[in-house]
Amino acid sequence: MTSASKPAGADVVVIGGGLHGLSSALHLARRGARVVVLERDMCGRHASGVNAGGVRTLGRHDAEIALSLASRDLWVRLAELVGDDAGFVPSGQLKVAESEAELAECSARVVHLQSLGFRHEVMVDACAVRDLVPSLARHVVGGIWVEHDGHALPFRAVTAFRLAAQKAGVEIREQCAVRRIEHRDGQWDIESAGGRWRAPQVVNAAGAWAGEFARQAGEPVRVEPRGLMLMVTQSVPAFVKPVLGATGRPLSFKQFSNGTVVIGGALECTADVTARQCVLDFPQLGTSAHTVTDLFPHLQHVVVNRAWAGIEGFMPDGIPVISRSSTHEGLVHAFGFSAHGFELGPIVGSVVAELVCEGRSTHDIDAFRIGRFAAAAHPQLDAH
Ligand SMILES: Cc1cc2nc3c(=O)[nH]c(=O)nc-3n(C[C@H](O)[C@H](O)[C@H](O)COP(=O)(O)OP(=O)(O)OC[C@H]3O[C@@H](n4cnc5c(N)ncnc54)[C@H](O)[C@@H]3O)c2cc1C
Repeated sequence: MTSASKPAGADVVVIGGGLHGLSSALHLARRGARVVVLERDMCGRHASGVNAGGVRTLGRHDAEIALSLASRDLWVRLAELVGDDAGFVPSGQLKVAESEAELAECSARVVHLQSLGFRHEVMVDACAVRDLVPSLARHVVGGIWVEHDGHALPFRAVTAFRLAAQKAGVEIREQCAVRRIEHRDGQWDIESAGGRWRAPQVVNAAGAWAGEFARQAGEPVRVEPRGLMLMVTQSVPAFVKPVLGATGRPLSFKQFSNGTVVIGGALECTADVTARQCVLDFPQLGTSAHTVTDLFPHLQHVVVNRAWAGIEGFMPDGIPVISRSSTHEGLVHAFGFSAHGFELGPIVGSVVAELVCEGRSTHDIDAFRIGRFAAAAHPQLDAH
């Protein structure tokens, strides 16, 4: 353990061993930095290890589209990046419309995206939907299709990034909560349960708990921790390949190769951010199960084997903070992924590494700057 009088040194201390912390650590180490990841629980214990594994560019906020497409390119060749494909399946993703009004909504979105120059989301009619998913209920009138989206296995992804990072020289300390960061004489002092560290650069990738470190850096932002639930059924014969979402009600739905079906889609429950656990909301899970049987009546008698939840940090505008600090040199934030950060994990690590090593990113990340929330932001540091 590090002694109280002599802090350990590193080039970069990453707070948080979720997908974003580990991806950042990997990309930084490959640029030659000495990196330490400090994780309060276990790597992947929270959102990154328990999510639905959706690799989705479909339905993204305008500001996220380019970044999500760049990240999906990395998912497709993930094995080159981390030595394992994390179970990525390019299944496509389909968002169904259950009425003419919903279909008009889908169509308006696709036209809007085309006006921005994006053509990855395409309209499909009722016939095309049935070609994609023959067992879907007859009332579905069409939807939006993204051919190259897919899904992966969350814990396998976290493990792949972790092992690749360690292979690149990253030191990972688990059960090592960071309590306080303080900028002194051009360096950060980091006080943790495992001792003190001193480093010129800190990455705040603490997920739903990241607001505390933004506050300590003097740039408070509202990161709302919310519980999100998933459930998984018993194994059933293969009936759907694409990941399915709905336009008018919460749904995210996929069948894995072992036949089990994972059901979720913004199903919220109570999150205890201090105890770092959630309380499942069974009536809400029941509503979601009904959505699934409305779309696939043949699943009515299928048994749900297990349900679980994870805590995710939501920003008020629903898009993350991926940004240099607006108050201090040597601090980069990557948090608040608002329920869709798994897909962004591979690319965000490389953006963070650019911000740490070069002070700017080759991607357009202006919409994600932390200064968008802080009236008193220091404009000279707020370029990103
Ligand atoms: C149920 C569910 C389903 C989801 N489905 C999808 C999906 O299908 N597709 C998609 O793209 N996204 C999905 N998401 C969102 C996605 O999982 C998250 O956006 C993403 O994993 C966030 O990663 P992270 O590294 O920022 O956070 P986390 O994985 O939460 O990692 C943050 C880490 O920081 C650690 N930490 C916190 N405080 C401290 C401290 N003081 N000291 C040290 N360490 C600390 C935590 O222990 C944690 O391990 C889902 C989320 C949930 C909960």
